[in-house]
Amino acid sequence: MFTDYPQGGFAIYEAKIKSNNLNLPSPRPYKDYILWQQQQDSLQAELFWQQKLQDFHAPTPLPTDKNSQRQPIHKEQYLQLSPDLTANLKSLAVENHLTLNTILQGAWGLMLSRYSGEKDVIFGTTVSGRPTTLAGVESMVGLFINTLPVRIKIPKESELLLWLKGLQTQQVEQEEYSYTPLVDIQGWSEVPRDIPLFESLVVFENYPLNGSLKAHNDSIQVTNIRNFEQTNYPLTLVAEPGERLSIVISYDTNLFTNDAIKRMLGHLQVLLQGMTEKPKQKLDEIPFLTADEKHQLLVEWNDTQTEYPQDKCIHELFEEQVEKTPNAIAVVFENQQLTYQELNNHANQLAYHLQTLGVKPEVLVGICLNRSLEMMVGLLAILKAGGAYVPLDPTYPSERLDYMLRDSQLPILLTQNQLLVKLPQHQAQTICLDEDWEKFVDYPEDNPNTQVQPDNLAYIIYTSGSTGKPKGTMIIHSGMVNYLSWCTKAYNVAAGEGSTVNSSIAFDATITSLFSPLLVGRKVVLLPEVNEIEELKQALCSGTKFSLVKITPAHLEMLSHLVANQEVNIQVQAFIIGGEALSEKVTNFWRKKAPLTKLINEYGPTETVVGCCIYEVEKQSFPGGNIPIGCPIANTELYILDSQLQPVPIGVVGELYIGGAGVARGYLNRPELTVERFITNPFYNPKFKIQNPKLYKTGDLARYLPDGNIEYLGRIDHQVKIRGFRVELGEIEALIVQHPSVVSATVIVHEDEPENKNLVAYIVSEKSQIFHSNKLHQFLQKKLPHYMIPSAFVQLENLPLTPNGKVDRKALPVPENQNFIFPMTLLLPAMK
Ligand code: AMP
Ligand code: MG
Repeated sequence: MFTDYPQGGFAIYEAKIKSNNLNLPSPRPYKDYILWQQQQDSLQAELFWQQKLQDFHAPTPLPTDKNSQRQPIHKEQYLQLSPDLTANLKSLAVENHLTLNTILQGAWGLMLSRYSGEKDVIFGTTVSGRPTTLAGVESMVGLFINTLPVRIKIPKESELLLWLKGLQTQQVEQEEYSYTPLVDIQGWSEVPRDIPLFESLVVFENYPLNGSLKAHNDSIQVTNIRNFEQTNYPLTLVAEPGERLSIVISYDTNLFTNDAIKRMLGHLQVLLQGMTEKPKQKLDEIPFLTADEKHQLLVEWNDTQTEYPQDKCIHELFEEQVEKTPNAIAVVFENQQLTYQELNNHANQLAYHLQTLGVKPEVLVGICLNRSLEMMVGLLAILKAGGAYVPLDPTYPSERLDYMLRDSQLPILLTQNQLLVKLPQHQAQTICLDEDWEKFVDYPEDNPNTQVQPDNLAYIIYTSGSTGKPKGTMIIHSGMVNYLSWCTKAYNVAAGEGSTVNSSIAFDATITSLFSPLLVGRKVVLLPEVNEIEELKQALCSGTKFSLVKITPAHLEMLSHLVANQEVNIQVQAFIIGGEALSEKVTNFWRKKAPLTKLINEYGPTETVVGCCIYEVEKQSFPGGNIPIGCPIANTELYILDSQLQPVPIGVVGELYIGGAGVARGYLNRPELTVERFITNPFYNPKFKIQNPKLYKTGDLARYLPDGNIEYLGRIDHQVKIRGFRVELGEIEALIVQHPSVVSATVIVHEDEPENKNLVAYIVSEKSQIFHSNKLHQFLQKKLPHYMIPSAFVQLENLPLTPNGKVDRKALPVPENQNFIFPMTLLLPAMK
C-alpha cells in the first residue's frame, strides 16, 4: 500500500518532520511507473507519433548563421510582459478554455513560421510526464519530465481563435502518449536520425520551482536557491506565469547575436499583444514587427529622395553636354572617333530622317548593329527623334531575334549591310547605317524638336526570363535619367576619362558604360565583340585612366586570369560589377592587383533600370562568401517582404521588391504578366516626390544585414526542396567557391527520375588543375549539412556563359545516368 501526498515531495517531507515519525508510509515507488510504462501499447504510440509527424521531413530552420560549427555558448535575455497584457492573455485563455501554454506555443509557432516562411513548423516542449491515469503519481519521487515535439500548421485563412482551440485539442490528445521517449519519436519520423527533430524548445513552467520552494516556509527554510539549467538546443524559451508573465530566452551566441534575440523578444510580444487584441483575426493578419523596426525598414532605409532632372529626357542631358564640351572626344571605336559636336550632328541628321519616317514618342525603332560609331549615332538618333530604341543583338539565335521582331512589331530597324542576311524575315523598314548615309546628310545638324516627355518610352530591352518567352521591358526616360544622373555622381565618372563598352547593348547593364560618360564630357570607348575580354585588358593597360568598367562577375574573373601572371598596370577608377552574385574570391584578387580601383557590386533587374542598389567592397569578410548588394540608390525603395507582402525583420529571408523612379512601365504586350510582376506598392507614400505607385516583384531572395545592407541569396526558382529540406543553390555555390582550388561553381538540381532530385556541382578549378572530389566533399562537410552537399561534382574548363556574360545554366552538360561521362570535360565522381 502507499499513501498519496497530493502536494508532492515537500508535503511528504513536511509530514514526516511534523509528525516526528520517519516511518510514515512512503509514496508510491517509481518502479510502479516503470511498470506502467512497460504496459503501455507501444504500437499505438508509434502509430500516434507517426501520424503526427507524417510528411514532415526537416526541422524548421531558424534565422541563424548556419555555418557555425563551434561549441555552443549560451546566454539569456528576459522579457516581462506588462500586468495588463498578462491579464489579457489570461482572460483570452480562460474565456476560451485554453491554457496559457497553448497561447504561448501558438505565438512561438507563428514566429517560427514568419521567420522560416514555412506553413508547417516544429519545435520542442517539455511536459511533466506524470500519467494522470496512474494513481499516486503526483507524489512519486523520480524523473518524469519528457521532451516532445510540437508540430503546428499555419493554414493561411485560419481564424486565430479557432486555430488556438485546435492546438488545445491536439495537446490533450497528445497527453496519452506523452511518456514516449523522444528518441523513439524521432525514429518513427521521416527526419533523418542525425539531424535534431527541432531546434528550439518552449518550456512553460506550470510549477515554478523558485516560487514553490519559497512558499514552504513554515517548516523548511529555503533561502538561497540556485538552479542550473543546461539546454541542448540553440534556442530555448522558458515562460513563468505570474502577475507579469516572464519569458526567458536562452540562446547559443554562435548562432544568434544579442540584437537578434532582442528583436525576437520584441516580435513575440507584438504577436501576443496582437493575439489578445483581435482573437477573431486571420493568422496572417497578426502583427509581428515592432513600430520601431517597421519604421527602420520601410522609411529610414528607404530614405533616398534626391533631386534629379525629372523634367528632362536622356538625349536632352546629352545635348546640354554637347554645348559644354563640343570638341571633346565622345566616342571611340578602333581608330575612329567622334567629338561631342560630331556625334550630335550625325545623330540629329539621322533623327530628322527617322521623323520623316514617322518616328515620334512611343514609336519603337529596332537597332541591330555591331559595335561601331554608327551604333552610338543610331541610339542617340532614335531618342532624339522621340522614339524608343529596341536593341537586337546580332549574335542572338535567329529564333530569338524572330520572336523579338514579331513581338515588338517594329516599324523601323537600324542595322548594317552585313547583318541583313542574319536577320529573320520581318515587317520593319530597314536602314543600313553603313550604306544609307547619303540619305540623311542633307538634313539639318541642329537638335530636332519633339514632343517626347520624361514619361515616354526610352527603350525596350528583352529579358530572357528563366522560363518561357522573352519579355520586352518598357523603360521610360525619367527612370533612365534618374539612374544615369545618380551613377555619374556616385561613380564619379567626370573624374576619369570615360568608360569601355564591353558588353551588348541588348543587356541593360551596358547602359552604365554606354551613356554615363556622355553626360559629363567623357568618352565612350567601344570595344570590338571578338575577344572582348582580351580587348578590355588591352584597353585597361593602354594608359587611359577610365572612370569605370561595367562587367559581370564571370567576365571579371576571366579578366583576372588574363592578368594574373603579368606585370600590368590596370588603370580604372572602378569596376562596377553586376548581373550575378559576386563572390569574395574575385574581389580579393582585384584588391591585391589593383588596390586603387574601387570594386562596386551593383544589383538590379532590367525592370528597374540597370541598378537599384550598390555595395562597395571593403576589407570586411562575409561568412556566406558573397558580397552584399548593399543599399538603394537615389529615389529607389527596396522592400524585403513575405508572401503576405509584409516586411520581414532583419536577418529573415524574403522576396526583394523594388520601387521608385526606375520601375518600368511594364512588359510589352504582356498585360497579365505585368499585373503579376508590377504590383501596387502597399507602402506608397504620395508625399514622396518619386511618382511611381508600383513595385517590381523581383523573384530574388534577400535579407537585411543588421547594418541595413542587403544580402542577395539567389533566385526564388533556384530554391529547391531536397528530401524536404529547403536548399538555396546560391548558398552552396558561394561555399564551394571558398575552397582554395575552386574558381567558380554552379549548382543545379538534376532530376533523373521524378522525385529523385540530386544536386550536381559544376566546378572550375584554379589553372584547370585536377582535384579530387573527396577533398571538396570533406571541405563542404565542415560547412554544410549533408543534404546540401552535391552528390556529384563535374569539373569543367569553363562555365558556359550567355552572350551577356552570365552563367548559362541551360548549357551545362546534362549528367547522363550515374556515370556522368562528358567527353570534353573531366568528371570527378561523387563521394558516398
Ligand atoms: P537582368 O534583368 O539581366 O539585369 O538580371 C537581373 C537579375 O540578375 C536579378 O534579378 C538578379 O537575380 C541577378 N543580379 C543582377 N545583379 C546582381 C548582383 N549584383 N548580385 C546578385 N545577383 C544579381
Ligand atoms: Mg541588370
